[in-house]
Amino acid sequence: MARRMTADTVAVEKICPVCRMTFTHEKYVTPKNDSLEFDSSLRAVSQAAPERNPLHYDVLTCPSCSYSAFEPDFDQFRPASGDPNAKKNECLASIKTYGITDLKQFTELRELRHGMASYACAEIWYRDRADLPVRMFRMGLCGYRLIWLIDDAMKDGLITKGDARAMQFHTTRRIAPYLEQSFLSEKFPAQPMWSVYLAEAAAST
Ligand SMILES: [Zn+2]
Repeated sequence: MARRMTADTVAVEKICPVCRMTFTHEKYVTPKNDSLEFDSSLRAVSQAAPERNPLHYDVLTCPSCSYSAFEPDFDQFRPASGDPNAKKNECLASIKTYGITDLKQFTELRELRHGMASYACAEIWYRDRADLPVRMFRMGLCGYRLIWLIDDAMKDGLITKGDARAMQFHTTRRIAPYLEQSFLSEKFPAQPMWSVYLAEAAAST
């Protein structure tokens, strides 16, 4: 359940299904007068301040064990084949590359780098969620959104254009098989159209 923290933020309380820790996920509320528009990549572009970008908050991350997932999948976790400690270490190593050393930062208002790192962690955790019918699609979506945010980081001057294009190229190579597998084997009502679109768009990055 979400409770309002300030005039423009809410906190969603969660119990981590992996380590049972209770934590809050704080995020901005989309202002009523904010007009979302979709660009040619199907990306929702907010007219509000950049730090309110909803893309930075769609993945929830447990500040204790690093378990990460999109909110609709978060509570559905079933014991997976992967070792939770190994996943935590992999997530910690990944977020360090974004200049983040404390998982608690994901529960507070986020900057662009937290948004980017949250998708990297979610992709790590989705890998072993064989119980989830749309696992491959989610993994592909994590990478696809990371590609968007790499563009933002380049525009903000956080990374060079050359580095951004190299990161996007490698991310595209990584997620293309996920999207292909998702299209071939996963059942999700509106998904075939999305998978094809995402695969095409990722391939053209
Ligand atoms: Zn946890």
